[in-house]
Parts: sequence; C-alpha cells; structure tokens
Amino acid sequence: MKTKLDIEKEIVVGGLTPLTTIDYPGELAAVIFMQGCPWSCGYCQNTDLLPSKSINTIAWSDVLIFLEKRKDLLDAVVFSGGEPTLQSGLEQAMQQIKSMGFKIGLHSAGIYPDRLQQVLPLIDWVGLDIKSAKKDYDKITGVKGSGEKAWKSARAVIDSGVSYEFRTTVHPDMLNQQQLSELVKELTELGVENYVIQQCVTGHCLDESRRVVSSPKLEQSVINQFSRQFSSFEMRNPDSV
Ligand code: SF4
Repeated sequence: MKTKLDIEKEIVVGGLTPLTTIDYPGELAAVIFMQGCPWSCGYCQNTDLLPSKSINTIAWSDVLIFLEKRKDLLDAVVFSGGEPTLQSGLEQAMQQIKSMGFKIGLHSAGIYPDRLQQVLPLIDWVGLDIKSAKKDYDKITGVKGSGEKAWKSARAVIDSGVSYEFRTTVHPDMLNQQQLSELVKELTELGVENYVIQQCVTGHCLDESRRVVSSPKLEQSVINQFSRQFSSFEMRNPDSV
C-alpha cells in the first residue's frame, strides 16, 4: 500500500470544479482535473492541462479535505483532465474517494488502456472520448499509434459492463462526414449503444490554424441517420461541452 506521501507525487491535480450537474449524468459532482496529456489534438481546449507539470497544482491532501467537507452535498467525483490515466496514483486516489462514499466518474481519451483496465472495477460511469476510426487517429492526436490505444480502451469499457457514454468532438476540417460515418460503423460493430457527438468550439483550439473552419457543418439527414443506430444518441452543442 502506498503511503500518503507517495500519492502526493503520483497524482498531479491541475484544477477542481466544486459543483457541476453536467459532468456525471444525473448526479451532483465535483470534477478533479488531472494535469498532463501526451497527445496534442489540434482542437484541444484544455491547453493549460497538457504539460505534465504546472505551477498551479493543488495538493492531493487539499482535494481530500475539500471533499470531506462536501460529503453530504455531492453524489459523485469525476476524474477528468488532461488525461487521468496518465497518473500512476490513479487507482489509489479512486480507492480513497470511493471509501468516502462518492460514486466515481472518469473522463478519458483511453490513452493508457492498461491503467484504464486497472481502474474500471472502481468506476461507476465513464465518458470515453473516441476521436475517429482507428486509421484516422494519428492525424488528430499528432501521435503515432494512438488509435490502437484508444480502441483497446473502448473495447475494455464495453467488456467491463460499466455505464458509459462514448463521445466524439467533431471539427469539420479534421473529421469529415465520410470519416465520421466510418467511425459510427466501427462503434456499432463494437456494440456501443450510448453515443454523443460534440460540436467543436473552434475559437480556443490548441492549433491556431484550426480556429477558422472551412468545411461545411454536418448535414441534418446524416445526423438523423446516425441517431437511429444507437439506443441513446445526442448531438451536443458547443455551449454545453
Ligand atoms: S486527448 Fe484530450 S486533453 Fe489530450 S490533447 Fe487531446 S483533446 Fe486535449
């Protein structure tokens, strides 16, 4: 068992939202933002959370003190990022939060499938970011082999039986209608039933050249066609992501 001192080194918290109603379906939650992500998606909005180190981190012990005071007000705690599965202390951190009586949520892009698999038994709900069909991944993330990792994680989530939402951010210049159709086909083949498409907020894209969009928006007829392929489907507008 790791000591309290160990976990302070193995969990890097870059931010905390004390109360939210939109980050864990149907529950009042706090969100812990993990510092660091090894990918560089051109449309990323969380640029402050990408470096593995920051001068604005919050000590894990302070997170626990905060949550202890909120025990009676919150249902769940969501680990978000950055990429939470980057953190070597994630499992222990989740165990600590769970033992306080909170449900555990996770927002992840599935970057470290082995660690995701390790923590899935502790998780009550996961929002998995799935960016494209496997073959189109590297162009979006800027990292070779990223598709294998994300799709291995997708398989792990489906096989685990944990409640989930798969979601895809669509920047029309980075994922065209044909590519999105291929993604939807792969998702249905995997057995995904709950799916959300999030329209990209382009004004804050990590890659400045992506802040102006030249391709047309998704056609409504295509959205309708996608919606029929999932038990639950949502088109999420930029104001709610
Ligand atoms: S995986 Fe998520 S946090 Fe990491 S660069 Fe891509 S959009 Fe940003």
